[in-house]
Amino acid sequence: MNAGATRGPVTICAVTKGFGADVVALAHRLGCDAIGENYAQEVTAKIAAVGTDHPPVHFIGRLQSNKVRSLVGVVTVWQSVDRESIVDELAKRSPGAHVYIQVNATSEADKGGCEPEHASGLVERARRAGLIVDGLMTVGPTDGNPRRTRDAFAMVRRLADAVGVIGCSMGMSGDVEIALEEGSTMVRVGSALFGERPSATGSPEVI
Ligand SMILES: *Cc1c(COP(=O)(O)O)cnc(C)c1O
Repeated sequence: MNAGATRGPVTICAVTKGFGADVVALAHRLGCDAIGENYAQEVTAKIAAVGTDHPPVHFIGRLQSNKVRSLVGVVTVWQSVDRESIVDELAKRSPGAHVYIQVNATSEADKGGCEPEHASGLVERARRAGLIVDGLMTVGPTDGNPRRTRDAFAMVRRLADAVGVIGCSMGMSGDVEIALEEGSTMVRVGSALFGERPSATGSPEVI
């Protein structure tokens, strides 16, 4: 393991997308630090059903400006901020919100995230707009190739260090160990905790 492994405690974001409110309650009883959700309508309905007693909600799916408003009050941390229009909308609708800037570390067209070279500019813009940048977020390569996965995570960790953020949200069920070795501070784990997602909307790559 590299020095990243000594960065401190790792937060577990239990990804409950595709599951019902019962799984959110389970994540709460298990003491998960956060729950991760990808879809605006799904999470809004689910949290309405659960009530106030649940872990903080991290939004990890593709963000659309016109959905931000409906998510304010439901979402505590916005992990998938990847462009200026989202930064601006969040600053307007949820001043001082906690965000991660999502980086597309593998240049895969179907993935969210800004290009790595735009990350520092987005971090700056978010800070100037009064948002609190907790870190960077990324999704490993879809093919799961271990070497490409490691390279992607190492690159995002270096980028986080370069822009001066501690948080690095990386690692899913299939690549959590590599992510931890490369300095992740938050893993987002769904199927490894709760089994296969029952709902088609929960496909991990639809982000
Ligand atoms: C679905 C999803 C996860 C969790 O995926 P698992 O393979 O079930 O652990 C993590 N991060 C993002 C962005 C996701 O969309």
